[in-house]
Amino acid sequence: MSGQQTIMTGLLGYPVEHSMSPVMQNAAFKQLGIPYYYAAFAVHPDRLGQAVEGIRALGFRGVNVTIPHKVNVIDFLDDLHEEARLIGAVNTIVHENGKLIGYNTDGRGYVRSLLRETKISLSEQNVLILGAGGAARAIAVSLARSGVAGMVITNRTPEKAAELAESIQRHTDTRVRALSLSDLPDVVPDSTLLINTTSVGMSPNESDSPVPGELLHQRLVVSDLVYNPLETKLLKEARQAGCVTHSGLGMLVHQGALAFELWTGKEAPAELMYEKAHHMLTST
Ligand code: NAP
Repeated sequence: MSGQQTIMTGLLGYPVEHSMSPVMQNAAFKQLGIPYYYAAFAVHPDRLGQAVEGIRALGFRGVNVTIPHKVNVIDFLDDLHEEARLIGAVNTIVHENGKLIGYNTDGRGYVRSLLRETKISLSEQNVLILGAGGAARAIAVSLARSGVAGMVITNRTPEKAAELAESIQRHTDTRVRALSLSDLPDVVPDSTLLINTTSVGMSPNESDSPVPGELLHQRLVVSDLVYNPLETKLLKEARQAGCVTHSGLGMLVHQGALAFELWTGKEAPAELMYEKAHHMLTST
């Protein structure tokens, strides 16, 4: 590798100290023997535009973008990939021929992880999404574009579920309904894939679950975007009820693997990235 110029990538967020991406991405670059490097940058919201111009000026290949910049960063980009446009947020920038293009790999990363880990067929799934925040929007758009049979969205603030359902219905062929949380007992029996996109159950509130355990049935695949703890109360109760379960760590890994592939044009060593992220989570 000596004599080769380092190709820079990284993360813009605020804060970024706890990100697992630098370890995951640098291990992947090293495994492939390519001269890339990934560094995390804490960028104050007032400085976001300057930081994005810095990518251009310094010749970075691209960056990931995380909270709180995923929506506001769009103002500083030259173009958006269609899925990022539909989601209304960007988590990956690619610097191509002087242009900064915004992508969103969160939803596709989620879908790739779900399919690899559970082997389900999406066209047969009646999906129930709990939550209507940024993560819900990304995965709902990707699942709808991947052709799931139907989708129901519920949220503590019902107006946000209605708005998300309406927006997805407008842009895809998937049948989407918004229902109230009080409808859960009627909806769960007909669902085949239940996804928690809320922060309920996340450390330190590990004894919380977004769904009463008695509603879970063994025809359900249960997926939780929360990855700390790795097995949330929801996933534990689902496992005990005989459900196939899917943890949020896979989404974290595969959104990064897809960004890696956009920057390098090479297949990401996703298993190695998973091992690195898993090790970081379980050794702290
Ligand atoms: P967000 O935009 O702030 O949305 C939060 C969602 O959680 C909203 O639907 C909110 O409902 C709901 N919520 C929060 N507290 C609640 C409570 N006590 N009871 C019921 N609902 C509650 O956040 P986000 O970016 O979508 O992230 C949501 C979760 O996904 C977080 O736990 C995050 O760590 C996880 N996540 C994981 C990955 C991954 O790679 N695995 C990626 C992104 C996010 P209201 O609308 O009523 O406030």
